[in-house]
Amino acid sequence: MGDVTTIVDPATGATVAEIPVQGAEEADLAVARSLEAGPEWRSVGPADRSRLLRRFAAQVEDNGEELAQLETRNVGKPISESRGDVAMVAEVMHFYAGAVDKHRGSTVPVAGGVDMTFHEPLGVVAAIIPWNFPAAIASWKIGPALATGNTIVVKPAEITPMTALRLAELALDAGIPEGVLQVVVGKGSVLGSRLVEHPGVDKVAFTGSTEVGREVMARASGTIKRVTLELGGKSASIIFDDADLEKAAAATPGGVFANAGQDCCARSRVLVQGAVLDRYLALLDDAVASWKVGDPTDPATQMGPLVSAAHRGRVQSFLAPGMGGPDDGPVPAHTVGTVPDGPGFWFPPTVVAPAGAEWPVAREEIFGPVVVVIPFEDEEDAVRLANDTPYGLSGSIWTRDGSRALRMARSVQAGNLSVNSNSSVRVQTSFGGMKQSGFGRELGLEALDSYTDVKNVFVSTDR
Ligand code: NDP
Repeated sequence: MGDVTTIVDPATGATVAEIPVQGAEEADLAVARSLEAGPEWRSVGPADRSRLLRRFAAQVEDNGEELAQLETRNVGKPISESRGDVAMVAEVMHFYAGAVDKHRGSTVPVAGGVDMTFHEPLGVVAAIIPWNFPAAIASWKIGPALATGNTIVVKPAEITPMTALRLAELALDAGIPEGVLQVVVGKGSVLGSRLVEHPGVDKVAFTGSTEVGREVMARASGTIKRVTLELGGKSASIIFDDADLEKAAAATPGGVFANAGQDCCARSRVLVQGAVLDRYLALLDDAVASWKVGDPTDPATQMGPLVSAAHRGRVQSFLAPGMGGPDDGPVPAHTVGTVPDGPGFWFPPTVVAPAGAEWPVAREEIFGPVVVVIPFEDEEDAVRLANDTPYGLSGSIWTRDGSRALRMARSVQAGNLSVNSNSSVRVQTSFGGMKQSGFGRELGLEALDSYTDVKNVFVSTDR
C-alpha cells in the first residue's frame, strides 16, 4: 500500500479516516481525464447543463446532514456552522444552474460588419482549497466553473478532504459525467504545485495564504495560466461613538471567533472611538463570557477547536513573550474565555486590549480566536488605521450616521464591507480581495467572467 494520510477529528484527536495520498503522477492522470471529458461537457446544451447542476444541488440537499456531520468531524467546526456551509453548497449550485444561460455575449456597433462576443470556457480548472471551509469554498469554484463549460480538478487541503471527496461522488450520482469534476488528495507542495505548473491546466482558482498565493502566481506564469487568488485578511471592525454599541459588542464574537477565527474575513482588529472604549470593552466582556465553546456536535455550540495541533501552536506564538508585550513579556490579554479540558486542539477566545498597532498580533493574520482592540480619535484616524495593512479583504463600519457610513465604505480599502453587520459572504454577491488579499471575484454573476475568456468575432457585411 502507498502512503496514506490520517484524517483526525480536531475535537477529540480520534482518527476519522485513512486516505491514500496522491502525487504528481495522479495529478497528471486527473488532468488527462479532465481534458478528455472537456469536449463532451462543453457541448451539453445550456438547459441540460443547468438541469445537471440542479440535480447536483438536490443530491447535496438530500445528503446534507451526512455532509455536515462529516465536515464537523474533519474540521472541528460547530455543527450549526457545517449545516450552514452545506446549505450554501446547494445554494451555489442552484444559483449557477440558473446562470448557465444568462452569461451572454454582446453585439457591438462597428463599421463594415457585425461584431459579436462569446464567453468561451477556459478548459481545465485546478481548484486549490484550504481547510477552513472545505465544502463551501470548493463549491464557490465548482459552481461557476461547471456552469461555464469547464472541467475541474479539486485539490482540498490534505488534512480536510472528506466533504470534497463526497461531493465528487454526489456529482456522479446527479448524472454529471465522469471526469468533469474530480477530487485529488495530496500535499500542496507536491500535488498542488504539479497542478499549478501542468501545461494542460488553464486556470488555477486558489484560496489560502498570501505566501502560497504568491508562489502559485509565480509558478502559473510559466504557462500564462489564468489565476484567481483569494488570500488572507486582517480586517477591521470600526465602531464609532454614535453606533448602537450594544449591538456592535454583541456581534463582535461572531465576527471574529466564528469558525474559531479560522476565517479570512475575521474582524480580527476592532477599532473603537476613544470616547466609548471603556463601555465597549465592558459590553464585550459580557459577550465573550456568553460565547459557547465546546463539543462541535452540540447544536448550541458556537466555537469548536482549531483545526490541528500545529495550527494551535502557530496561534499561540502570537501571544508569546517578545511579541510586543510590555518588558518583553507575554502579550497582555484583556479577556480570555474558557475551553473544555481533555483532548482536542482547543484555544480560548482571547481579547487583547488595548493592543499596540505595531504588534504582530495586530498586524498578521492569526487565523485563530484572537482579537485586538485599538482606540481611534476621528474618522481620518480610523481610515488610516484600517488601511494600515497589506491586506484588503473585508471589514465592518458601525455608525448611525448614514453619510459617515458611506464615506467610510468608500475610503476603507477592502473588497467586502458591511455597515452595522459582520456579514461578508452571500451567494448572489461578488466576493474577493484588494491589495495582498488577492484578486478576481468569486460568487455572484462576476465569478462567471473569471472562468471564461471573451472571444470577439467580426463578420464583414461587404458585398
Ligand atoms: P496554505 O496556503 O498553505 O494552504 C492552502 C491550500 O494550498 C491547501 O490546499 C494547500 O495544500 C495548498 N498548497 C500549499 N502549498 C502549495 C503549493 N506550493 N502549490 C499549490 N498548492 C499549495 O495555508 P495553510 O494551510 O498553511 O494555512 C496557513 C495560513 O494561511 C493560515 O494560518 C491563514 O493565515 C492562511 N489561510 C488563509 C485562508 C483563506 O481563506 N484566505 C485559508 C487557509 C489558510 P496542503 O494543505 O494539502 O499542503
